Amino acid sequence: MRIGVLALQGGFAEHIRHLQTLGASTFEIRKKSDLQQPMDGLIIPGGESTTIGKLLKDLSIYDDLKKKVDSGLPVFGTCAGMILLAREIAGTETAYFGAIDIVVKRNAYGRQLGSFFTEAEMTEIGVVPMTFIRAPYIESTGAGVEVLSVVDGRIVAAREKNVLVTSFHPELTEDNRVHRYFTERFINQSGER
Ligand code: GLN
Repeated sequence: MRIGVLALQGGFAEHIRHLQTLGASTFEIRKKSDLQQPMDGLIIPGGESTTIGKLLKDLSIYDDLKKKVDSGLPVFGTCAGMILLAREIAGTETAYFGAIDIVVKRNAYGRQLGSFFTEAEMTEIGVVPMTFIRAPYIESTGAGVEVLSVVDGRIVAAREKNVLVTSFHPELTEDNRVHRYFTERFINQSGER
């Protein structure tokens, strides 16, 4: 299993570390030609969604990556990665991959609660540690979306078809079960590509 990790900005190194503990091989996506490598799955890390979105376009990575995601490549986005995968970003006309039918609200927890830690139930996994950093949450979901976790009445994890998103950063804890869920339930099911 070979997983590409978008490494333009943000927390890609921590994702790579978690994937390696699961025995997956990884490579960093920094330029268009990196996309020529075989890829069974993709991770879009946290960071700053506007910065990553701009770099995706400036480096001409966006179009090729969107084609892969649209054709079913399993993809996992955390925090800014979730914003980049959403159909709509509340209050804006901007959208990036539009790969999951959710409306996200950026920096949704306000200043005081900008960053916090909690533990909550995630469907099929159990109670997982969750680190939130100026996190978005999911305001609404379309009919095809399965909600996987709710914290304080707000949706913080969801899936639809080949796409998994979390508001929080599972790569910033020692617990690799969310990554394992991605590799086992999204990648192994879709077979080799
Ligand atoms: N607030 C960031 C954004 O809007 C996301 C924060 C994160 O990825 N930790 O892009």
